[in-house]
Amino acid sequence: MGTKNVVCPECSNVNSVQMDVKTHIVECSQCQGDLSDPFPLEVTDNSCMKHITENDIAILVDFYSTTCGPCMAMYDDYEDAALGFGMKVRFLKIDAEKHQLVAKEYGVTGLPTIIAFKGGKEVNRVSGQLSQVQLSMWAERLV
Ligand SMILES: [Zn+2]
Repeated sequence: MGTKNVVCPECSNVNSVQMDVKTHIVECSQCQGDLSDPFPLEVTDNSCMKHITENDIAILVDFYSTTCGPCMAMYDDYEDAALGFGMKVRFLKIDAEKHQLVAKEYGVTGLPTIIAFKGGKEVNRVSGQLSQVQLSMWAERLV
Protein backbone atom coordinates (compact mmCIF):
# COMPACT_ATOMS: atom_id res chain seq x y z
CA MET A 1 0.00 0.00 0.00
CA GLY A 2 2.96 2.34 0.54
CA THR A 3 2.54 5.79 1.98
CA LYS A 4 -0.60 7.85 2.00
CA ASN A 5 -1.28 11.43 2.92
CA VAL A 6 -3.47 11.68 5.98
CA VAL A 7 -4.78 15.01 7.23
CA CYS A 8 -4.55 15.28 11.00
CA PRO A 9 -8.02 15.50 12.60
CA GLU A 10 -6.67 17.82 15.28
CA CYS A 11 -4.44 20.34 13.50
CA SER A 12 -5.07 19.65 9.77
CA ASN A 13 -1.35 19.04 9.17
CA VAL A 14 -0.79 16.70 6.20
CA ASN A 15 1.16 13.60 7.29
CA SER A 16 2.77 11.04 5.01
CA VAL A 17 1.89 7.74 6.66
CA GLN A 18 3.33 4.29 5.99
CA MET A 19 0.11 2.31 5.60
CA ASP A 20 1.52 -1.22 5.56
CA VAL A 21 3.09 -0.98 9.01
CA LYS A 22 0.83 -2.40 11.67
CA THR A 23 0.96 0.19 14.38
CA HIS A 24 -1.83 0.89 16.80
CA ILE A 25 -1.40 4.60 17.08
CA VAL A 26 -0.07 6.80 14.33
CA GLU A 27 0.85 10.24 15.58
CA CYS A 28 0.72 13.52 13.74
CA SER A 29 4.24 14.82 13.18
CA GLN A 30 3.14 18.30 14.16
CA CYS A 31 0.77 18.00 17.14
CA GLN A 32 1.18 14.31 18.11
CA GLY A 33 -2.56 13.89 17.63
CA ASP A 34 -3.86 10.39 16.87
CA LEU A 35 -4.28 10.07 13.10
CA SER A 36 -6.22 6.84 13.50
CA ASP A 37 -8.81 8.37 15.82
CA PRO A 38 -12.02 7.02 14.28
CA PHE A 39 -14.49 9.41 15.93
CA PRO A 40 -16.45 11.57 13.48
CA LEU A 41 -14.75 14.90 13.16
CA GLU A 42 -16.74 18.13 13.26
CA VAL A 43 -15.39 20.31 10.47
CA THR A 44 -15.78 23.84 9.12
CA ASP A 45 -15.88 24.83 5.44
CA ASN A 46 -12.11 25.33 5.45
CA SER A 47 -11.07 22.16 7.25
CA CYS A 48 -13.63 20.14 5.28
CA MET A 49 -12.13 21.20 1.94
CA LYS A 50 -8.65 20.45 3.24
CA HIS A 51 -9.68 16.92 4.25
CA ILE A 52 -11.41 16.33 0.91
CA THR A 53 -8.53 17.57 -1.23
CA GLU A 54 -5.41 16.54 0.75
CA ASN A 55 -6.32 13.09 2.08
CA ASP A 56 -5.38 9.93 0.20
CA ILE A 57 -7.75 7.96 2.40
CA ALA A 58 -11.46 8.00 1.59
CA ILE A 59 -13.66 10.62 3.21
CA LEU A 60 -17.30 10.59 4.22
CA VAL A 61 -18.96 13.92 4.86
CA ASP A 62 -22.26 13.99 6.72
CA PHE A 63 -24.06 17.27 5.95
CA TYR A 64 -26.43 17.78 8.86
CA SER A 65 -28.10 20.42 10.94
CA THR A 66 -29.15 20.40 14.57
CA THR A 67 -32.73 21.26 13.62
CA CYS A 68 -33.10 18.28 11.26
CA GLY A 69 -34.79 15.31 12.93
CA PRO A 70 -33.43 12.50 10.72
CA CYS A 71 -29.92 14.03 11.00
CA MET A 72 -29.94 13.89 14.77
CA ALA A 73 -31.53 10.42 14.70
CA MET A 74 -28.54 9.22 12.65
CA TYR A 75 -25.98 10.81 14.99
CA ASP A 76 -25.15 7.71 17.07
CA ASP A 77 -25.29 5.34 14.09
CA TYR A 78 -22.78 7.47 12.20
CA GLU A 79 -20.45 7.45 15.19
CA ASP A 80 -20.81 3.69 15.73
CA ALA A 81 -20.13 2.99 12.04
CA ALA A 82 -17.06 5.23 12.11
CA LEU A 83 -15.45 3.25 14.95
CA GLY A 84 -14.76 0.35 12.60
CA PHE A 85 -12.69 2.35 10.13
CA GLY A 86 -9.80 4.02 11.94
CA MET A 87 -7.45 5.37 9.30
CA LYS A 88 -9.20 3.62 6.40
CA VAL A 89 -12.08 6.07 5.99
CA ARG A 90 -12.29 9.48 7.66
CA PHE A 91 -15.79 10.30 8.90
CA LEU A 92 -16.52 14.01 8.87
CA LYS A 93 -19.61 15.93 9.86
CA ILE A 94 -20.42 19.45 8.88
CA ASP A 95 -23.23 21.63 10.19
CA ALA A 96 -24.61 22.78 6.84
CA GLU A 97 -26.53 25.64 8.40
CA LYS A 98 -23.44 27.17 9.99
CA HIS A 99 -21.06 26.26 7.17
CA GLN A 100 -22.74 26.56 3.80
CA LEU A 101 -19.88 26.83 1.31
CA VAL A 102 -19.05 23.14 0.92
CA ALA A 103 -22.75 22.23 0.78
CA LYS A 104 -23.21 24.82 -1.94
CA GLU A 105 -20.12 23.68 -3.85
CA TYR A 106 -21.47 20.12 -4.04
CA GLY A 107 -25.12 21.07 -4.55
CA VAL A 108 -26.42 19.63 -1.29
CA THR A 109 -30.12 20.48 -1.06
CA GLY A 110 -31.65 18.11 1.50
CA LEU A 111 -30.36 17.00 4.88
CA PRO A 112 -28.95 14.66 5.85
CA THR A 113 -26.80 14.08 2.79
CA ILE A 114 -23.68 11.96 2.95
CA ILE A 115 -21.06 12.32 0.25
CA ALA A 116 -18.11 9.99 -0.21
CA PHE A 117 -14.85 11.38 -1.62
CA LYS A 118 -11.73 9.66 -2.84
CA GLY A 119 -8.71 11.47 -4.20
CA GLY A 120 -10.53 14.80 -3.91
CA LYS A 121 -13.44 13.66 -6.08
CA GLU A 122 -17.00 12.78 -5.20
CA VAL A 123 -17.54 9.05 -5.76
CA ASN A 124 -20.96 8.52 -4.21
CA ARG A 125 -23.73 10.24 -2.30
CA VAL A 126 -26.94 9.43 -0.53
CA SER A 127 -29.66 11.66 0.86
CA GLY A 128 -31.74 10.58 3.84
CA GLN A 129 -31.15 8.70 7.05
CA LEU A 130 -29.08 5.49 6.92
CA SER A 131 -28.76 2.77 9.56
CA GLN A 132 -25.42 1.87 11.13
CA VAL A 133 -25.27 -1.28 8.98
CA GLN A 134 -25.95 0.68 5.80
CA LEU A 135 -23.33 3.26 6.73
CA SER A 136 -20.73 0.57 7.45
CA MET A 137 -21.43 -1.27 4.19
CA TRP A 138 -21.22 2.01 2.33
CA ALA A 139 -17.90 2.96 3.92
CA GLU A 140 -16.50 -0.56 3.38
CA ARG A 141 -16.88 -0.14 -0.38
CA LEU A 142 -14.53 2.85 -0.25
CA VAL A 143 -11.62 1.08 1.44
ZN1 LIG B 1 -1.82 17.25 14.10
